[in-house]
Amino acid sequence: MKNFDVYPLFNIEPVKAQGSYLWDKEGNKYLDLYGGHAVISIGHTHPHYVKALTEQLNKIGFYSNSIQIPLQAELAEKLGKLSGYEDYFLFLCNSGAEANENALKLASFHSGKKKIISFSKGFHGRTSLAVAVTEGASMQAPVNKTENAIMLPFNDEVALEKAFSNEIAAVIIEGMQGVGGVQIPTTSFLKKIQSLCEKFGAVLILDEVQSGYGRSGKFFAHQHSGIKPDLITVAKGMGNGFPIAGVLINPKFKAVHGMLGTTFGGNHLACAAGIAVLDVIKEENLIKNSETIGNYLMENLRKAPGVKEVRGLGLMIGVELEIPCAEVRNALLKDHKIFTGSSSDKNTIRILPALNVTKEVADIFLKAFTQVLSKSLVK
Ligand code: PMP
Repeated sequence: MKNFDVYPLFNIEPVKAQGSYLWDKEGNKYLDLYGGHAVISIGHTHPHYVKALTEQLNKIGFYSNSIQIPLQAELAEKLGKLSGYEDYFLFLCNSGAEANENALKLASFHSGKKKIISFSKGFHGRTSLAVAVTEGASMQAPVNKTENAIMLPFNDEVALEKAFSNEIAAVIIEGMQGVGGVQIPTTSFLKKIQSLCEKFGAVLILDEVQSGYGRSGKFFAHQHSGIKPDLITVAKGMGNGFPIAGVLINPKFKAVHGMLGTTFGGNHLACAAGIAVLDVIKEENLIKNSETIGNYLMENLRKAPGVKEVRGLGLMIGVELEIPCAEVRNALLKDHKIFTGSSSDKNTIRILPALNVTKEVADIFLKAFTQVLSKSLVK
């Protein structure tokens, strides 16, 4: 059997990783400014994380959600404290798409309604309803298309007001759009969504799968705007690579046995990974580091040649170039051994390093980036 060929691959095979670095099987050292797709929050193979997972694996790795798993309560308590959502409930699952699928389902259970508003360039995952509210025709199979999904222009308050009615079950929006090229919702747009949701009895879902867990310089990106969503979804940075995701749920939602469920969600190993991540984020002050190094990077990226716009908060940065970015990313990888991310906007590079990235690493990147851009522009 062979693997189903759905990913375009770089011909690089990392065999070791530490902090913000990777090594391939030939011993080449790479700088990871992409964090394995915004997943690596506390740095590769962080010693506290490795120890916590190893110790847990030696005790018990998995049992079903039919028994007591106190690690789930510990994780929920620590997440509530660090994020400022102590009164919310936590439902644990395994991936970003699954978190959004469950949030959308909960919104429909709660409101008794079906129509979902989402926004252009948004990305919410590839399961049936998550992909229906995601922009990108090539990802949607015929069975995914539904008239319950209403896609509106991003940051357009007039279009939003016009589309809203009593039929809307939920609005889903990313704290900051990632795949769409790091687009930030305005505070005024988020406040408008919140007030329309309140007025029409709709549920506000913040997809913080990529922008959450300290990446934006606050625990959640929406906390820069002072809104309070009904449901918040988390994944990527939550397990630093171990598959774990969750939905933070306002206490007004009523839990009923059987309404949601999963075999793997909240297993012992996943919880051990999730707790270790939260402990390290807190102990090492990584949210502050995300803000500090993020601001430093953005300030200096704006000075680089050929940069049209730099968008971002903390360590979620989109650099829009005057030229397509594929060649620049390839040169960074080939000539400087630096991984960066792409986006659905062909001119925008995404920078998503580990939250404990240092100023020294930022400087190495800035120097290489300026060199590559100067060369690309001379051609
Ligand atoms: N929401 C957002 C904002 C994402 O960036 C992603 C992944 N790129 C997802 C949902 C889906 O997450 P997963 O791939 O874990 O299903």
